[in-house]
Amino acid sequence: MTADPFKSTPYWWDGCTFSPPIVRPVVPKCDVAIVGGGYAGLSAAIELARAGRSVQLFDRQALGQAASSRNGGMASGSIRPGRKELIRRFGEARATEILMEGKAAREDLWAFLKEEKVDCDFHLSGLFVGAINADECEELSRSADLLRRLLGIEAHPVARLDVPTYIGTDFYTGGFVRMDTGGLHPAKLLAGILRVATATGAVIHENTAVTGTIAEAGGVRLRTSRGDVFARKVLVCTDAYTDGFDPWLRRRIVPVRSRIIATEPLGEAAMDRLMPKRMMYGDMRQLSYYYRPSADGSRILFGGRDGTTAGDALAPTTHLRSELGRIFPELEGVGLTHSWFGQVAMHRDMVPRIFTSGDTVYATGFCGSGVVWARWLGKKAAFKILGEAEKAQSAFDFDPAPKAIPFYRGKPWFIPLVYSLYEWRDKRAMRRRQPEEKRP
Ligand SMILES: Cc1cc2nc3c(=O)[nH]c(=O)nc-3n(C[C@H](O)[C@H](O)[C@H](O)COP(=O)(O)OP(=O)(O)OC[C@H]3O[C@@H](n4cnc5c(N)ncnc54)[C@H](O)[C@@H]3O)c2cc1C
Repeated sequence: MTADPFKSTPYWWDGCTFSPPIVRPVVPKCDVAIVGGGYAGLSAAIELARAGRSVQLFDRQALGQAASSRNGGMASGSIRPGRKELIRRFGEARATEILMEGKAAREDLWAFLKEEKVDCDFHLSGLFVGAINADECEELSRSADLLRRLLGIEAHPVARLDVPTYIGTDFYTGGFVRMDTGGLHPAKLLAGILRVATATGAVIHENTAVTGTIAEAGGVRLRTSRGDVFARKVLVCTDAYTDGFDPWLRRRIVPVRSRIIATEPLGEAAMDRLMPKRMMYGDMRQLSYYYRPSADGSRILFGGRDGTTAGDALAPTTHLRSELGRIFPELEGVGLTHSWFGQVAMHRDMVPRIFTSGDTVYATGFCGSGVVWARWLGKKAAFKILGEAEKAQSAFDFDPAPKAIPFYRGKPWFIPLVYSLYEWRDKRAMRRRQPEEKRP
């Protein structure tokens, strides 16, 4: 066990640095201005610049500071609501389209990595999702069946006796495996997308905040910290880092902290016991945890909610470490090398969306699943701006925008209440375990 304290920067940042920003003059006029330089904004910039549009992208920070280089690198393209809920909200046809688009989006990412030679340690490892009671096992079994039938995805339920084939724990009473999910190094992915975007001629202004927008005839005037810009179209890709520059969007997006801890190197024998297939992992709990081996397979990265809104990393880190120990008792009190957080964007829909307001298009609200979706919907938004109807076609492109959250102006006062409700539901789900499902 190493002596904590741990680093508070992402594990991914060790050995992956972004070049210092090149400072270019802000040009007063362009075809498209993009706000936000994560996967979404940069991927949109590639398509727009390749189509011959003059593009300026603004990020208020140096690139590589926000969610796109802080995440877990699980390339799942998952959607929070289940199919039943999607059907209830959007109808059967759209629910099916949403699931089908996930497949297309994942495959598009794999193709991009290959074509653009982006080396980001991508491995199509598969995903194991654990169940904690018989009801969840049944639900996962139905999901596996649906993925196979509807999308032809290799997926199957895992019975309790077979769980150790995938994960060294008796915490789960079963689960399911889908083989269309992979793991990658998120910061290397961002660096790769940035390299491609820069080569297209899109002008990227780092450390340049957009502080406000004003609708004008034929476009939008943006106020930036380095001068005004008039753009015919604006694309907003600020996700959980949306600040006061767009109060309308801010009332719709709730930034929530997600934290990841990295264990010390565990040794090959322990990794073989705990993660024999070196897959991506998650479970069905409302306050679920996501975890995976590092790209070199030497340690475990374990992520989940961070209920704090400021300061102290110790309490949420201790909480995550004890949850890790609950799944893998031999890791109780394990040494940590890193513990960091980033923000994920939640909203009332819990489905990523493209929507419009005047000459501004939004591709945002990824609800903690943006490795596949942010890049994909950034591209789709670009095609929409280009007027390329066929390529822009997406089940996620629909107005009106997600509804504003009542009594919310940027301070998520209700999060503790939501967490308490989720915690109560998770405890209830644990109580539903049959006696034979409980740990000896
Ligand atoms: C800890 C953590 C773990 C996660 N794990 C996973 C995972 O395993 N798999 C997965 O699929 N997803 C995961 N996610 C979610 C995923 O990282 C995000 O959905 C995705 O990176 C969002 O990309 P983006 O381009 O929309 O936004 P971001 O990468 O967050 O970029 C938004 C940018 O907007 C800029 N900005 C904001 N306001 C302004 C302004 N006024 N002017 C200029 N710039 C501005 C910010 O500086 C920021 O750089 C995780 C997220 C976190 C935080």
